[in-house]
Parts: sequence; structure tokens; C-alpha cells
Amino acid sequence: MRLLFFGPPGAGKGTQAKIVAKEFNVEHISTGDILREAVNKGTDLGEKVKSIMERGELVPDEIMNELVKQKLEEVNSFILDGYPRTLEQAKFLDAVLKQIKKEIDAAVLIDVPEDEIVKRISNRRVCPNCGKVYNLITLKPKNDEKCDNCGTKIVQRDDDKENVVRERYRIYRKNTEPVIEYYRKNNKIVTVNGVQDVEEVTKELFNMLRRFRNNDNN
Ligand code: AMP
Repeated sequence: MRLLFFGPPGAGKGTQAKIVAKEFNVEHISTGDILREAVNKGTDLGEKVKSIMERGELVPDEIMNELVKQKLEEVNSFILDGYPRTLEQAKFLDAVLKQIKKEIDAAVLIDVPEDEIVKRISNRRVCPNCGKVYNLITLKPKNDEKCDNCGTKIVQRDDDKENVVRERYRIYRKNTEPVIEYYRKNNKIVTVNGVQDVEEVTKELFNMLRRFRNNDNN
């Protein structure tokens, strides 16, 4: 199964991508997570992208394309979460997939309106140790503000601050909506209503994706 996941920042895209990847036993490739890890580790890549990410802007296509190409050569089934974000990236992805003779089954759009996004985002928290994502309203940790997995105090990501979120939403609209249109024209888009409880969104996704489960060997 090979999927792309789309949705505005705060739609629950990362959370759902992780759950679906586990259920269907495919690799979860989150470009945002890969970049954040590079920044935390202070690698060359991290140094290059740190200030761009802090401003909520997009990392240049050449960097992203190279990074994703390397990943795709290592795996067969995957969910790409956070890529492609521009038409140029989408076209590059098409070329890479053609080269390695693989196809995308579907591009999943988790649909959430802007007002709802702004309400949600200020409540998003993440575990700095294991990466688990929480929401103080919809997906609270069981114990205070401590991670359910590892007990580390959960924190707000710099790029979840409100001004950054608004800038990211604007950039999302400007760059990614044409990408969604691109996949819509190719009949790849499946839309899920993201304004529901996490469990309900997951249920809708599982039902929708079951038909692709056996597409792993083509
Ligand atoms: P995310 O967690 O997917 O929202 O990504 C966090 C940040 O990483 C974004 O705001 C961008 O600065 C950068 N980023 C992640 N994926 C991409 C991409 N495909 N193209 C450009 N920048 C990206």
C-alpha cells in the first residue's frame, strides 16, 4: 500500500498517518519529523533548515526531493506524510515512482476548516523524547502533561505557535492546494472528514483503505 497524506497543519494528519502505518504495516515517512530530528541532532541538514522551519516557511524543493528519493529507494510500502507540498515536488515524486516502477494507491485528504485548525493548534503538544503527539482537548495524556509512553513532560513545538501556524496555513493554501488539485485530476484523492474524534477519523480511514491492503506487491 502506498499513500500520500494531505491536510492543513493541525488536521491530525501525523497522528492518523502513524496509526494507519501501524495497522497496515507500512513505513511512515514524515518529512516534518525527519527535518525536526535533523535540527535536534544539529546535523548539516538540520543547520540548513532550522531557521526556515522556525519561520514556518517551506524548505527548498531540491533538499526535500533528495531526502524523499533516498527514503523511497529503501522501502516498498509507505505513507508519505508532509510531502509533496509543492507542484514541483509532486512532479519529482511522479518521476521517481516511474523510475522505480511503483504507483500511489491514493492521496488521502483530511479535511478541516481554518477556524477549527486555529482552535486546535494552540492545544497540540508533543513528547520531545518519543515523538508521540497529544492534544490537550481531544487526545490528552492520561497523567498530567506527561507522555503516556515514556513519562517525559510534553511540550509545544515552536512551529505550533499561533503566528507560525497562521503563516503555515497561508503557505499550505498557496502551495499545497494546487498539489491536491493535481491528484484530484488523476482521480487519486480520497477525502475524510477531519472534524470528528480521532477514533472516528481512524475508523473512516480504515474502512476506506482496506481495499488497498493487498496492493503491496505490484
Ligand atoms: P510538518 O510537521 O509536516 O508540518 O513540517 C514542519 C516543517 O518542515 C514545515 O513547516 C516546513 O518548514 C518543513 N517541511 C516539511 N515537509 C516539507 C516539504 N515537503 N517541503 C518543504 N518543507 C517541508
